[in-house]
Amino acid sequence: MLRSIVQIVAPRLCLICEVALTTTGDQRPAGVCDLCRERLVAPGDRERSSHTCRAESTDGQSAIGGLSAQHSPAMTVVFAFSYRPPVQNLIKDFKFRGRLDVGAGLADELARVVTSHPNPDAMVPVPLHPRRLRERGFNQATEIAKRLQIAKKLPILINNIQRNTWLGPQTGLDTKARARNVAGAFSVERSIPPHVAIIDDVITSGATTGALMTALGRRGARRFQVWALAHAVIR
Ligand SMILES: [Zn+2]
Repeated sequence: MLRSIVQIVAPRLCLICEVALTTTGDQRPAGVCDLCRERLVAPGDRERSSHTCRAESTDGQSAIGGLSAQHSPAMTVVFAFSYRPPVQNLIKDFKFRGRLDVGAGLADELARVVTSHPNPDAMVPVPLHPRRLRERGFNQATEIAKRLQIAKKLPILINNIQRNTWLGPQTGLDTKARARNVAGAFSVERSIPPHVAIIDDVITSGATTGALMTALGRRGARRFQVWALAHAVIR
């Protein structure tokens, strides 16, 4: 009770520098202040904040998680931040320390960015393996989707979209090993509308989203966007 009153009365603070945020014109709360937003997104990143990956290679396998060209000629990746400190630390607080408020603030930043992109028919949060979901208590991708729904009013598809395999930690694996690790990782037992946005916290190699796209493609999806809080560049 006390907590909810405090949330109503206290001004929202920037997640990075904790300056009080001014209410935006459309009354939508924002996660970081204008100065931090400028500082955290380098000019090069801003250009990349929407980019299209195409399935290009000659063997029918794309660079995106072995996704075949017939399932998806292109996906547009949209993200709010580069995955590096301090945003990297905020995402870790959100995922591993249960800071759903931080996740909501970051999702509000993503909501700003996706506004300039065409609406998909639905959002599909990347599912967690049931074991990891039990450990964590929430799926960060679902939490992001629920927050985006406030601004975007899009259906969220969760039921009958499952992660089958226990992948273990993905860190330390190169792109090829990650792609191998996630092949066949998802099963989709429902029909899927033609245009979906896959929601994730961080997009790295795209292997996970590529595998999910393949599974969604078998059930009717033809056009994909990936909406992620942050993009990690593999060096
Ligand atoms: Zn700030």
